[in-house]
Amino acid sequence: VFITLEGGDGSGKTTQSTLLEEWLSAQGRTVVRTREPGGTDFGTEVREIVLHSRGFITPRAEALLYAADRAQHIATKVRPALERGEVVVQDRYLDSSVAYQGAGRVLDAEEVRDLSLWAVEGLLPDLTILLDLDETAARARLDGADKPFDRLEAEKGEFHARVRAAFLALAEREPDRFLVVDASADPETIAASIRNRVATLL
Ligand code: C5P
Ligand code: MG
Repeated sequence: VFITLEGGDGSGKTTQSTLLEEWLSAQGRTVVRTREPGGTDFGTEVREIVLHSRGFITPRAEALLYAADRAQHIATKVRPALERGEVVVQDRYLDSSVAYQGAGRVLDAEEVRDLSLWAVEGLLPDLTILLDLDETAARARLDGADKPFDRLEAEKGEFHARVRAAFLALAEREPDRFLVVDASADPETIAASIRNRVATLL
């Protein structure tokens, strides 16, 4: 079973994937929790490059770096785990590229999606959890956690609004694959609604 978590910075993906992993393990499932960018040794290097090259590499160069990370990650880590019958819980996947490199960087959404699908030989998640949160709440949460506000700080609200709208449009387009969650709710309430949906896949 392949489950991805998507949403903007500060939407709670890390918290929820940790809670989901704990619950799945308690159900006796073997879980691989992973993330993009940076789910492999190669991906860790790509992550360094991509996060440090913001602002001066071109949108297409950025999109290709994410696609390279994704190709390596899916082929060497995710597919083998799925073939062993394990549950993969993954922070960010191709929907992040459509939202960030597509809507955020203003590349064509279909082209970005096709590039990702080519990189991973067409692998789509069984379930994608979209943690939907407005910018003000995300900003408050990251400030509270004393984390750098990162891309939101550098690129301000318009970028974030485009990314958020793109995620919601993706969810609308594939309602069977997506579970959209109001990420302003408390973490345990969110975790419970995620568990309810995941239980139907086990
Ligand atoms: O989710 P995580 O903190 O690992 O993401 C690192 C940064 O990379 C975030 O600021 C996110 O906005 C950005 N990112 C991106 N395009 C992606 C994935 C992540 O711009 N496809
Ligand atoms: Mg995170």
